[in-house]
Amino acid sequence: SDAYKLVSKKWKVNPTSIDLGDGVYIKEGDMAVMAGPCSIESEEQIVKVIDHLKANDIKIMRGGVYKPRSSPYAFRGLGIEGLKLWHELASKAGIKIITEVMQVSQIEEMMDYVDVFQVGARNTQNFNLLDELGKVDKPVMIKRGISGTIEELLQSAEYVFSGGNEKLILCERGIRTYEKATRNTLDLNAVPVLKDKSHLPVVVDPSHGIGIRKFVHQMALAGVMAGADGIIYEAHEIPEKAYSDGQQTLDFAQSAQLASQIRQTFAMR
Ligand code: PEP
Ligand code: MN
Repeated sequence: SDAYKLVSKKWKVNPTSIDLGDGVYIKEGDMAVMAGPCSIESEEQIVKVIDHLKANDIKIMRGGVYKPRSSPYAFRGLGIEGLKLWHELASKAGIKIITEVMQVSQIEEMMDYVDVFQVGARNTQNFNLLDELGKVDKPVMIKRGISGTIEELLQSAEYVFSGGNEKLILCERGIRTYEKATRNTLDLNAVPVLKDKSHLPVVVDPSHGIGIRKFVHQMALAGVMAGADGIIYEAHEIPEKAYSDGQQTLDFAQSAQLASQIRQTFAMR
């Protein structure tokens, strides 16, 4: 197919390795664990999450400062000031940051404070955003569109790659189907298919994928067995009080258990 080329294994045989510095990688043959709240909420919250990550040897923290919310009245994030504070605390602790960029104008102001730019499921086909991210020297993780096909995800990656930025990661985060028992349908089929078609690392997001806290654990481990190179999930000291996505967020005890089981499962794979 000529829908994409550069992100395919036909173009590049060797798996792409994303080097975040200080020995932190997102790459095949490794298992990147990324955890943190849906939204960055406060200095106190950031400190608590960082302490939790440090205690469990988790080196990459997720969290949104620009939140794509279905309702305009919902909490929409602390913005650039929140990111600067988070970066100050995280870099002191040796923790890397992955966070969503929602529009072109945010790229430059965010650049010095992120380790990985996340493109959210609502922006997978924001082609202007992808074009601009193609010009930056910073890793980008592209989430699969809410109703996007695997091929469309690869074409979105092709936008960034062909623009000159080869530091790319793909993320399966669940798609909208006719099934209403869960928030989304985590398409674990996408993992072996993406790994077969592309040289890019593949990450699974079980939190958005199923949307129900008590099932996140199982789907995370299933993602590892399906061949994921990383797992990204939501964790918060008190999920019931989280500003967003509390219903699918693990508490610290659950998160500690999951991080350890992700590693055990990966070691058995
Ligand atoms: C998130 O990671 O909190 C998020 C908004 O994810 P998605 O874009 O997959 O919905
Ligand atoms: Mn979320």
